[in-house]
Amino acid sequence: MTEFGDQAILSIDLDALVANWRRLAAMAPGSECAGILKADAYGTGAAMAGPALWRAGCRRFFVAHTTEALDLRKVLPDAVIHILHGPAPGAEPDIAAAGLSPVLSTPGQIAAWAAEARRLGRALPAALHIDTGMNRLGLTDAEAAAIADDPSRLAGITLDFVMTHLACAEEADSPHNPAQRDRFAAWRARFPGLKGSLTNSAGIFLGTGYHHDILRPGIGLYGANPLGPGDTPRHRAARMSEVVHLQGKILQVRSVDRGQTVGYGAGYIVEKPSRIATVAVGYADGFSRALSGRGSAVIRGRQGHVRVPLAGRVSMDLITLDVSALAPEDCLPGTAVSLLGGGVDIDDQAEAARTNAYELLTQLGHRYRRIYAGAGATGAGA
Ligand SMILES: *Cc1c(COP(=O)(O)O)cnc(C)c1O
Repeated sequence: MTEFGDQAILSIDLDALVANWRRLAAMAPGSECAGILKADAYGTGAAMAGPALWRAGCRRFFVAHTTEALDLRKVLPDAVIHILHGPAPGAEPDIAAAGLSPVLSTPGQIAAWAAEARRLGRALPAALHIDTGMNRLGLTDAEAAAIADDPSRLAGITLDFVMTHLACAEEADSPHNPAQRDRFAAWRARFPGLKGSLTNSAGIFLGTGYHHDILRPGIGLYGANPLGPGDTPRHRAARMSEVVHLQGKILQVRSVDRGQTVGYGAGYIVEKPSRIATVAVGYADGFSRALSGRGSAVIRGRQGHVRVPLAGRVSMDLITLDVSALAPEDCLPGTAVSLLGGGVDIDDQAEAARTNAYELLTQLGHRYRRIYAGAGATGAGA
């Protein structure tokens, strides 16, 4: 890709990703730690993140869609790859040929996967998802009981594990957690001999009763706090290494007098003579419009890191920052401004946008110049 000085830079630290995976794995030494790579590894690039985790020893991965799994197979030829949404209807032959393992969540998916095994005349791998209170994906109680009572419906399917998903894992005190844990333990007893998988990133912090055999962390791998925004001792203890650093470049800086306005809608009224820097990143790059007037950025001046507020609305390709707190020499055109990471906490920025770190990460755009560092990265990526 051609590179120019005004282009925003998305740096992804694969060593930090690996460190986060090792750290979460070490919290449950008796369990296998998988890696969740759905939504292009939460925006960081599954084709880079997957092999980095593989080289660190991760052997099992989850994505949401069949297409994501087929793409991932190209860069992870020997990994176990699970499809959380189950086999896409009609794609069963491709899934079997690629050696993927769908997570079966409905009687229809089970029947279709068993039919594919019969057609091929060989056993096919899969996992079973039982709903324990989220009411989103997974077999209902009645459906799961029917399968447990009549295992012939699984003929031709080699089940690896049974799983469920926690609704409130970030909330340590939520009564949903022990309720789902106990329901899951009861279901495991009805599928003896199968491994179990219960927790996402936050669930790992709920303690050993939740760990079971296979951990399914996503967000924590990518550097956000598994417990979300907050500054309690629990949050501080759960801080992850920073993986994502997004930097935009200043295009121009102008002096604006008191009473003038900045940006669309003229909603931002300057209260005292200010300097406004215009940065070449906007909502078309995944920088949420919801950050208008609420988000912040960090500029490294000679006096150290200076936090500057967004002034006015985020537009398609641009944002405007009030840089009055910096010396003019510290915010010349071409200066890099940290918008995520580099002093801008991703969970705080997400909270300012009234969303979560998951959404900010998965919205990361494709106009950035991506730079991968660490874990055998070759430098610039896609
Ligand atoms: C996305 C997802 C995960 C990972 O969750 P994080 O909160 O990102 O750690 C785990 N399990 C299931 C079923 C998921 O959909």
